[in-house]
Amino acid sequence: MLNLTYPYKLKLTQEQQQTYEAWLETSRRVWNYALAERKDWYKSRAGSIDRCSLRGEYVIPADAPRPTFSSQCKALTQARKVYPDLGAAHSQMLQQVLRRLEKAFVSMWENGHGFPRFKKPGRMRSLLFPQLGKTPVRGNRVKLPGVGWVKMRLSRPIPEGFIVKQAQVVKRASGWYVMLTLQCDVAVPDITPHGEALGIDVGLSNYLATSTGELVPRPRFLVDLQSKLRLLQQRASHKVKGSNNWRKAHHKVAKLYERIRNGRQDFFYKLAHRLCDGVGMVFAEKLNFQAWARGLFSKHTLDAAHGEFLRILKWVCWKRGVFYAEVNAKGTSQICPSCGTNTGKKDLSVRVHRCPECGYTTDRDIAAAQIVMQRGLAAVGQTVKMLGEGLSVGSP
Ligand SMILES: [Zn+2]
Repeated sequence: MLNLTYPYKLKLTQEQQQTYEAWLETSRRVWNYALAERKDWYKSRAGSIDRCSLRGEYVIPADAPRPTFSSQCKALTQARKVYPDLGAAHSQMLQQVLRRLEKAFVSMWENGHGFPRFKKPGRMRSLLFPQLGKTPVRGNRVKLPGVGWVKMRLSRPIPEGFIVKQAQVVKRASGWYVMLTLQCDVAVPDITPHGEALGIDVGLSNYLATSTGELVPRPRFLVDLQSKLRLLQQRASHKVKGSNNWRKAHHKVAKLYERIRNGRQDFFYKLAHRLCDGVGMVFAEKLNFQAWARGLFSKHTLDAAHGEFLRILKWVCWKRGVFYAEVNAKGTSQICPSCGTNTGKKDLSVRVHRCPECGYTTDRDIAAAQIVMQRGLAAVGQTVKMLGEGLSVGSP
């Protein structure tokens, strides 16, 4: 089974926009309410029994169960009968808000992400409809819950043999979009390991390093746009909240943010295609978000962007018939790819791998990519070729 997500721009009428604006606001309040409920529960459990905090104690009894996705869904169903705003919004869509919150908690527990945050007005930007009616797309129109048929710009046709499973409506600075999840039930033949192997290492100082000795820098235009974004954000924060200038400044920020997102995605696709050229296997490291969250890196830039790149890479590999696998990245920077000696932990400031045993010298990220490749080959049962003494790949 294969899933694809295709984005299309929507042409919503004034009335349709009003409906979805209202649903976004309802979703936001559902999110905040459900988050507050979970937060209060945690607070009430924070102190030990003999030093119980008064605040938590009288609100929530000691035996109150922890709010879960299913308990909050039940409460939502009840609340929809009482509150017209809640009742008016699509019920499955609202449940998805609770599911998203559940996911945010799971990624906090498992990946060390931060405590989920309350959303300010306008901060809820997408509505997820997990189910659509029968044949929800006809020509250049899509049938969406609550608003009926909507025109969309059919920038690319829905491929043969795929059905539309779900739709996510997203409000961006440049307008409304729908991300259609397409599913193909045809069994897809697995790609078997073959041909040349490539290992890659994603990082910070370089965007990416390959086992063949290539260093891909962070694209200049993204770096520039990012500093421009910070400037605009600063300016926006000085405006009087709610004023016209404040609104304008925030719209500018949102527009630039969208440009960065699009530019980054474009860069990811081009890079992924280039990596697939001439190889039959691509190995990447399995990202360890937990280590990153604990470490020195700014996790927001890292996990979002690198995770997205690897998702795109996996998809491009599949499309190009290239085998893709992720390997354990633990200690990739400690082992010499030439002779296998453990050279010990390197400080982040040490940019060069220099083996005291065999003298192999290369960029540390390239060495890591070479280890990733060797581990990948070992995992698929192919002979691992050590690079051999004295061989130098890439510039030290
Ligand atoms: Zn060595």
